[in-house]
Formats: sequence, structure tokens, C-alpha cells
Amino acid sequence: MKYFRIPIFLLSLSLAGLLSACPQPDREIKRVQFLMGTQVEIIARGADDKQLEQAASKGFGEIERLDFKLSKYRPDSMLSRINRQAGISPVKVDDEMMMLLEKSLQVCRESQGAFDPTILPMLSVWKIGDANPSPPGDAEVKEKLKLVGCGKIVLDQDHQTVFLPEPGMGIDLGGIAKGYAADRAAGVLKENGVKSGLVNAGGDLTVFGVTGKGIAIGIQHPRYREKIIGKVYLKRGAIATSGDYERFYIFNGVRYSHIIDPRTGYPVQREASVSVKADTGLIADAWATALFVLGREAGLKLLQSRPDLEALFLEPSGDFGATEWFYENMTWGQAAPRED
Ligand code: ADP
Ligand code: MG
Repeated sequence: MKYFRIPIFLLSLSLAGLLSACPQPDREIKRVQFLMGTQVEIIARGADDKQLEQAASKGFGEIERLDFKLSKYRPDSMLSRINRQAGISPVKVDDEMMMLLEKSLQVCRESQGAFDPTILPMLSVWKIGDANPSPPGDAEVKEKLKLVGCGKIVLDQDHQTVFLPEPGMGIDLGGIAKGYAADRAAGVLKENGVKSGLVNAGGDLTVFGVTGKGIAIGIQHPRYREKIIGKVYLKRGAIATSGDYERFYIFNGVRYSHIIDPRTGYPVQREASVSVKADTGLIADAWATALFVLGREAGLKLLQSRPDLEALFLEPSGDFGATEWFYENMTWGQAAPRED
């Protein structure tokens, strides 16, 4: 692990600007749709355009299906049904929801509670996403924090139910849904004859079947979006980014991000962004959120015993840190940070 100081003031980073890929097999299409409140991009390569077109549209359909199920904004979603029954009764769910909750609980435990799917009451207190948000008082934060804790969720494997035992509790899958959706859409592409490609759900990317050097994933300069800090190549697997710049509000000069530290109840201010590489989008997404909460120092320490995860941390101060994979595989661009 090495630390570098960035001479220019870097606030955040995002994964976008998907560049060239090599070598080019057969045919390739790129399609974009606005789903899950974000821009979703599909790149599909295979034998014929018509097949790729149909596969891409099924891929988008899969993401839409997941939005209907996992959205906290849709009153008829499976997630909203669980949340409405908080403190009332267990709710029967399907295999997929069971799996997502189990994985969420696992990351919650492994991250010492930094990733916590029961964060929903805190998002309401901080009015994240509201038209005119303002920060709450300390007493209110303290009070609502009592409703948070992934250990409170009751998952009954035999009856396939989930129960939130206290009224006011709520589950939010916003820190995991896009990465999982990218995985699932990639699965649908494969099932429909796509040889290789990529699904980018708002900066959470899943790549599959790519040969040669891989697909180049451009890492954008946080404040000069036309500039590339660097790029990494992926043949398969996923990269997800959590940042303080896509969804936040500024009140009296303070930036409040949409990621809340479940241990304190306050929005995280340490990191500007964290990018994580993992085998699946689900895991990359969950850990990007978890490591954003933990911060560079604690995060890098935890990652020493996690060879399955790689991460790149950017802090508002301009400092950054990463695990070896990023240092070894990152090709720095024109806006690259320089070592002192
Ligand atoms: P993005 O939505 O920018 O890709 P993330 O994947 O990190 O970023 O997801 C952030 C979302 O996760 C928030 O909008 C919220 O819905 C949820 N969330 C916020 N704090 C936490 C937390 N500590 N643990 C789990 N989920 C969280
Ligand atoms: Mg996430």
C-alpha cells in the first residue's frame, strides 16, 4: 500500500467515459436508457446486430424489473411492502430478495456495520433527496439511530420471511441495487447470445467475456469532467464507485452526502469517492459504500485480509490511497495526480 499526495485539489472521481476495447470481436452496439434513477449503458458484442439489439433490450428490461422490486420510492415494490410491515408482521419474500438481504447482512457484519441496509430512517432524518433539505438536530439524529442496526432484521429461512421488529425501521437497498442490477443485466445478455460486453448502471459496472487487454474504464476527473485521471482495463468482474458528488446537498457551506455513517448517524465527510473492484457488481457496490463509510485508513487496513477486493480512495483533502491492483493496473491520464 502506498500513499500519494495529489497536488491538485481532487474532490471526487467517477467511473464513466468508457473508452475503446481491444480486440474488436464481430459486431458491437452501445445503448443507453435512464433507469433506477440513473443512466444505464449497455455495450454488447456478438455475431449479429439484431440479436444484440434484442439482448440489450432484454437487459434493460431486467433492470426495470429490479427497480419495480427494490425501489423504496415505489409503494408497490417488494421492499416497500417489507418496510410498511415494520413492527407489525413478517413479510413473505422470494428467493432473490432473500439472497439480497443475506448478502447485505453479510457485508454489514464483515464491514463492522459500515454498510447497513437498515439505514433508511437516517436518510429520512437527513432529508436526502428532498427538494429543500436541511440538517436535523443532534437529538433527532440520536433518537432515530436507535432504529438502525442490521442485527435487528429477522430473516426466517424456513418460512422465507423478513421482519423488521420495530415500528419506524426500514430497509434501503440503494447501496447494492445498481451493482446487482448490472450483474443481472449482464447475465441476461449472456443468456441471449451476447459474447462479451458491459453493463454500466450509473458508475457501477459489470464486464463479461472480454478477451485481449480488456475494456478500458476511464476514470474521470471529479471537477473537470472532460478530463480523464486514468483508466483501468477489465475483462470480467465489476467496478463500483461511491461518491459524495452525485447526490448531496450543501447547507450553510457544509456538504451533506447521501451516505450515512450508521455508527454515528451523520453523513460521511471523510471521503470524496471510493472505487472498488470485485468479482460481482453486487459485492463491488456494497463494499464501495462500506469503504466510503470506513474511510481510507480503516478501509485499507480491513482490505489487507480481503484479497477478493481492491479499492481506490480519494479524499476531499486531495490525498488518495489504493490497494496494489489499482497502482499496478491504472494507466494515468492527462489529469493524473503526481507523486510529491
Ligand atoms: P451511488 O448511489 O452513488 O452509486 P452507493 O452505491 O454508495 O452510491 O449508494 C448510496 C446509497 O446507499 C444511498 O443513497 C442510500 O440509499 C444507501 N446508503 C446510505 N448510507 C448507507 C450505508 N451506510 N449502508 C448502506 N446503504 C447506505
Ligand atoms: Mg454502493
